[in-house]
Amino acid sequence: MKYYDYLIVGSGLFGATFAYCARLAGKRCLVIDRRNHLGGNAYCENVGGINVHVYGPHIFHTSNRKIWDLVNTIVPFNSFINKPLATYKDKTYNLPFNMNTFRQLWNVECADEARDIINRQRQDVIEKLAGREPENLEEQALMLVGRDIYEILIKGYTEKQWGRLCSELPAFIIKRLPVRFTFDNNYFNDVYQGIPIGGYNRLIDGLLVGIETRTGVDFINHREECINLADKVVFTGQIDEYYNFRYGPLEFRSVRFENEDINISDFQGNAVINYTERDVPFTRTIEHKHFEMFGDEVQKCSHTVVSKEFSVEWMKGMEPYYPVNDAKNNNLYLKYKALADSEKNVIFGGRLAEYKYYDMAPVMERAIETFQSNL
Ligand code: UDP
Repeated sequence: MKYYDYLIVGSGLFGATFAYCARLAGKRCLVIDRRNHLGGNAYCENVGGINVHVYGPHIFHTSNRKIWDLVNTIVPFNSFINKPLATYKDKTYNLPFNMNTFRQLWNVECADEARDIINRQRQDVIEKLAGREPENLEEQALMLVGRDIYEILIKGYTEKQWGRLCSELPAFIIKRLPVRFTFDNNYFNDVYQGIPIGGYNRLIDGLLVGIETRTGVDFINHREECINLADKVVFTGQIDEYYNFRYGPLEFRSVRFENEDINISDFQGNAVINYTERDVPFTRTIEHKHFEMFGDEVQKCSHTVVSKEFSVEWMKGMEPYYPVNDAKNNNLYLKYKALADSEKNVIFGGRLAEYKYYDMAPVMERAIETFQSNL
C-alpha cells in the first residue's frame, strides 16, 4: 500500500480529468508535470488582460451534453463560435468550405450550382479511384471538394502544417473538416462550443481543486522515486519516451510561435486567419483577444496580442503537438502499445500516450472512460 492511489504524469486535459474523477471517487492523487505550469497545451498566459493561448488556439466543442455540463459547472463558457478565415494570394475566403466560400471562388449563389462545379472537378479522381476508397489526403480532398478548393485552400496549408506531401498523408486528417451547402461559417458541427470565461486555466484549476500538484517534476528523470509514490501511474506523456525510444522515435509535428503585443485595439478582426499559400512561411495568425470578446475587460484592452504559428518537425527538447498517424508510425506505435498493454500498474492515456489526435472534449471522455474501466 503506497501513499497515493494514483500518480498522474501530465496535467493536461487527460490527466486533470482523470484526477478529477479519482478525487470524486475518494482516491488520493498526485499530479506532476515537467513544465512549470499546469494545463498542458491548454495553458494560457495573461498578457495585459488578454489570455494568450500559449500553445495554439483552443476552442472547446462537443455534442456530448454530459461533458458540456461538466465543464460548465467548473467554469462558465462564453458563446464563442469559431469562424476562421483563409487568405490566399491577397484574397480572403470563409471556412469551413461552405456557400460563402463557393461564392467567393466561383461567384455562385445557389447550392446546386456549387454542387455541379464540385462534381465536375471530382471526375478525374473518381475515375482514378474506380470504386476504391481514397488512400491519402490528396485523393480524399479531391473527392470531397474538387480541384480548386484543394489547390487554393488545402494543399499549401496541409503541406506546411504536416511537412509532408498531401499524397503521403493519411486521408482521415481532412475528414474532420465540414463541407456545407449552406451559408454557415461555423467551423464545427458540434452542438456546444465556447471558451471558458477567464481562460482555460480556470478549467484546469477547477478540475484539479483539492488535488496535490507539483510542477517542474520530470517523471522520466525520476522514474523510480515517482513509481514508489503510488499504487498506479497514469502516464500521459509520449509512449515512446516512456520506453526510452526502444524501437525508435514516433514522429510528431511541433509548432513555434512568434508573438507580438501590438498597440492597437484590433489587428485582424477575427480570432484565426489561415494562410493557405505554400510560400507564406507560417500557417495561421491568432489574435487571442477575439476568443473572449464578450468580456468587458477584453473589449476595453487598448492593445492586442497576435501570434504567427509556424509548423515544424518535432525533435527532442520540443513540445510534441500532432502525431503523424501514417502507416509507418502507426505500426511503430503498435509495438509500443504491446509493451504498454503488458503493464499491470501503468495506465497510458491522451494524445501523446495513445499517439492519437484528440480534441479537448473527446480526451476528457476518454479520461473518464479510462478511470471507470480501471476501477
Ligand atoms: N486544413 C486545410 N486548410 C485549412 C484548414 C485546415 O487544408 O485552411 C486541413 C489541414 O490538412 C489540417 C486539417 O484540415 O491538418 C485539419 O484542420 P484543423 O483546423 O482541424 O486542424 P487543427 O486545428 O487541429 O490544427
